[in-house]
Amino acid sequence: MKHYDIIIIGGGPAGLTAGLYASRANKSVAIVEGASIGGQIVVSPEVENYPAVKKTSGYDLVSTMLDQALDAGAELETDTVLSIEKNENLFDVVCEFEKFTAKSVIIAGGVKSRKLGLEGEAELLGHGVSYCAVCDGAFFRNRIVAVNGGGSSALEDALFLTNYCQHVYVIHRREEFRGEPVLVEQLKKKTNVSFVLNSVIQSLEHTDRLTGITVKHVHTGTLTLLDVDGLFVAIGKVADSQRFANLVDLDANGYIISDEGCTTRTAGLYCAGDCRTKQYRQLTTATADGTVAALKAINYCSLID
Ligand code: NAP
Repeated sequence: MKHYDIIIIGGGPAGLTAGLYASRANKSVAIVEGASIGGQIVVSPEVENYPAVKKTSGYDLVSTMLDQALDAGAELETDTVLSIEKNENLFDVVCEFEKFTAKSVIIAGGVKSRKLGLEGEAELLGHGVSYCAVCDGAFFRNRIVAVNGGGSSALEDALFLTNYCQHVYVIHRREEFRGEPVLVEQLKKKTNVSFVLNSVIQSLEHTDRLTGITVKHVHTGTLTLLDVDGLFVAIGKVADSQRFANLVDLDANGYIISDEGCTTRTAGLYCAGDCRTKQYRQLTTATADGTVAALKAINYCSLID
């Protein structure tokens, strides 16, 4: 069984930053990531709000973060963490393929895409329904698509899709967008976008793939059928930390209850990034959390040594 001073669960900006700081403090560090490295930002085509980097892609940004953490000495373990147990002063980190021990653990596992919860949604994944415009947008070249959501992710997705698609419907349940106004302005300038506001998706129309969506106006109840080949769902994220509930407290939405100190109810166990309770989930707040959690973990290791 491999032992590390600090194990970081999750290879997004929070986890990679924690890996950098902890390694530079001469701790043995593993970043355990089961899916692709980089977290949600990896699919953002343009990132313009990370200080000192005027414009980059999410992929390039996290690739640099990963290089920096590995150069500092962190190791990458490609595995999925199933559970954590605390035994005396050590944590057992049980993964799909291996089991590790560590003096301190940082949970930086991020969040997952929220689902609409409509009939056929799961079956249509890859057959017209997608949660990632950057990954799947190119399959819809010259097609008609819809994006559902009013946050920055939906707006970014819609902007991206205007480059490929014949037409993009942006469906949002309110009049005002939650996302950044600058993105709304950019989208309004596009000639192949229609806004379908105060509206929710009532049903997915399909054969063996998506053929359309029925949209309901939330005030009038009017139903409208939109013939679309693709639907990109961008209605926010949900927490995915239930498997750690033996050691951390979760709020009603499944986020790990914590504060700017990144502590949990278990000594030596910290959390960082989007998986914890916080007001703003941004790249910069994720990397800030990674810093704080690493410094706390480094200090904890020295206390129990
Ligand atoms: P979000 O900001 O939480 O927005 C989710 C959107 O989906 C909201 O407009 C919400 O409507 C809508 N929604 C939620 N549940 C729904 C449902 N069941 N049916 C229909 N609509 C529903 O999520 P996000 O856009 O994924 O962004 C997540 C975080 O990442 C945010 O903090 C965002 O600022 C950040 N982000 C940053 C960048 C960047 O910095 N470049 C890019 C993307 C995202 P209401 O508005 O009515 O609640």
